Amino acid sequence: MRDRRLPYGRQLVDESDVAAVSDVLRSDWLTTGPKVEAFEQAFAEVTGSAHAVAVSTGTSALHAIAHTVGISSGDEVIVPAITFAATANCVVYEGGRPVFADVDPRTLLVDPDSVVAVSSSRTKAVFAVDYAGQPCDYAALDAIGDRAGTLILADACHALGATADGRPIGSLALATAFSMHPVKPITTAEGGMVTTDSDELAAVARRFRNHGISTEFRERERQGSWFYEMIDLGFNYRLSDMQCALGLSQLGKLKAWVERRREIARRYDDAFEELAGVDPLERVPGAEHAYHLYVVKLDLERLTCGRERFFRALQAEGIGVNVHYIPVHLHPYYRERYGTGPGMCPVAEEAYERIVTLPMTHAMSDEDTGDVIDAVAKVASAYAA
Ligand SMILES: *Cc1c(COP(=O)(O)O)cnc(C)c1O
Repeated sequence: MRDRRLPYGRQLVDESDVAAVSDVLRSDWLTTGPKVEAFEQAFAEVTGSAHAVAVSTGTSALHAIAHTVGISSGDEVIVPAITFAATANCVVYEGGRPVFADVDPRTLLVDPDSVVAVSSSRTKAVFAVDYAGQPCDYAALDAIGDRAGTLILADACHALGATADGRPIGSLALATAFSMHPVKPITTAEGGMVTTDSDELAAVARRFRNHGISTEFRERERQGSWFYEMIDLGFNYRLSDMQCALGLSQLGKLKAWVERRREIARRYDDAFEELAGVDPLERVPGAEHAYHLYVVKLDLERLTCGRERFFRALQAEGIGVNVHYIPVHLHPYYRERYGTGPGMCPVAEEAYERIVTLPMTHAMSDEDTGDVIDAVAKVASAYAA
């Protein structure tokens, strides 16, 4: 047993990150200065997209996308049942109605057949979620979108660094949201990014993060002008130069970090292949997984305990397990306001009773990885049916 609990996710910050932030603190611009542009440019390059717009959180990135593509009152937006609540909440912020689609039991990614089944004449968009760090089936979603005139949007808060058929996440949907919360692939403490190939959507998102104002303060300074106009209702969703300097420094390590997480995943995969009762989620063919999360499904028929006891036993071993996620349509807010509830997405609901997220971070050592494997094996054998 470990004496310090190994967290399921956490940041890695080194001296070069600290130096990058300190430089900004000694500079003229603490926010909306040169680091924002530099970070956005580097992020656009890594994600193979024409534009990246830095915002304050992953949630504000989702909100900016919902606003920018024009989701409004009466619009329905299809969201997978297994995701963080923010994917659905951003639709509500703009007056739309989230409609929940079921997931594929093998990957917990949105099931295109379910998307078709819950579509209606009011469907404006689908918010695909690249759950755990794997790409959704964008080819199938695009085909559905083309047929029905539905926009395909992406919540890739898990998936920076993943690819599908060689194409980077961030370039596969009309607009894509990323998060830079400390547990995510890279961090700026809090932070988010919108990527898109559309010049127009990028311009609207840029305005939306700055109160709906048409020019930025730094631009006006440069032109010696005080004049500005607010032409849309926006928010203060800006990301500071301090944070963008941290993000730029972190982004340089992304490739090595994703590699490290894949290495840990391979060790987990090998260890659990022969272990009864513990089934890792399946991998999408042709895709490179970013492994934000490593999720296993318990085969409850081969265990004498349920998920709750399995979870607590791992915690007692010092393993910081978690569960991603409670299906969004089961949260009281959605049940009360939108009449959702059990039975609506049976695959997601069944999976939810069985999933456990194991620690997976680029900061984990080989010894940490071994501790997780040993603890899972110990608990699975103790409860073997
Ligand atoms: C983390 C996360 C968000 C929200 O990001 P924040 O930066 O915490 O606002 C949204 N969707 C998914 C799938 C996430 O994992």
